[in-house]
Amino acid sequence: MKNLLRTRRFRSAGWSYTADKKTTKNIVIVPHKNPDGDAIGSTLALYHYLSEKGHHATVIAPNDYPDFLKWIPGESTIVNHETHTKEANALITEAEIIFTLDFNALHRAGNMETILEKSKAVKILIDHHQSPDSYAQYIYSDVNMSSTCQMVYQFIHLLGDTHMIDSNIATCLYLGIMTDTGSFRFPCTTSNTHIIVADLIQKGANSAYIHNQVYDTNSYERLQLLGCALNNLKVIPESRTAYITLSQDELNKYNFKKGDTEGVVNYGLSLENIVFAAIFIEDKQEGIIKISLRSKGNFSVNDFSRAHFNGGGHINAAGGRRDLSLNDTVNKFITILPDYSNALNDE
Ligand code: 5GP
Ligand code: MN
Repeated sequence: MKNLLRTRRFRSAGWSYTADKKTTKNIVIVPHKNPDGDAIGSTLALYHYLSEKGHHATVIAPNDYPDFLKWIPGESTIVNHETHTKEANALITEAEIIFTLDFNALHRAGNMETILEKSKAVKILIDHHQSPDSYAQYIYSDVNMSSTCQMVYQFIHLLGDTHMIDSNIATCLYLGIMTDTGSFRFPCTTSNTHIIVADLIQKGANSAYIHNQVYDTNSYERLQLLGCALNNLKVIPESRTAYITLSQDELNKYNFKKGDTEGVVNYGLSLENIVFAAIFIEDKQEGIIKISLRSKGNFSVNDFSRAHFNGGGHINAAGGRRDLSLNDTVNKFITILPDYSNALNDE
């Protein structure tokens, strides 16, 4: 109800989303850095919706995203802030409204943080991560939502515009719900998620095609890299934990491309009796180790990442980073684990 009330403020704020010259707004829509299916799907869905309403909307991504997302309707209109900084900054400066989607803190927009902070535009946050920061004037935050795409569906619905969801919007929204729910199998998938997904299919989302585009377009090298990752898998049975490492040399050997390691952390969690899984990926260019954490049950990887790895996310899926070496990061992880053994064995 709280969220519903918050969303209603969109109406009482006196903005009209009807297409006429007086109300046409310059709108920028921003996903988080290293955008995933939910970030790209939700921003593009909103882009299509606002454009249909007659607004001048642009999605500006902080950086590039994986090839398996480069087919989504409207994808070619996305401005990459990293490669088109001038053009992107001009659009941000002219923006009257800025939507930030699928993230809870401005630093998650990478190098766009400063210009977003400075911008005088009205900011609207739509997100399902825990503890949203207070940079936005309007916040639609719900940690019980499977995905930001599900929230964008609700957003359009609450504005009375469900009828405007065409096959482009349906495809974008289906994509993000599918990727954030692990193809409708994670606990965040509710009956309402399925009702929405059913409606999206009815409105033109081709589920088999979307699944194929995202999951069945592997390169041979990506599968070899997966083999390498699985070979590196280690288990710590007393903490019901499994972890994987990938060094920069290993990534180079298999010609790593953005998105190639997506989902690999879940293999650790698929082991019998394991409730906590991690992957440590070396990034020599940024000088960091990128960490992905996943759990089953009540063990909060969001809390764990906030406490030890400068990150966050959700209860069962979070990310983080350290600027130590790969070995030192893993050793730190192993040293901390006994403090959590009781909690992990209670799962
Ligand atoms: P992944 O492990 O796939 O990168 O991220 C898992 C979840 O945690 C995603 O929902 C992602 O948005 C979030 N996440 C990843 N890295 C960070 C981070 O550094 N900070 C915060 N707050 N969330 C993160
Ligand atoms: Mn998401």
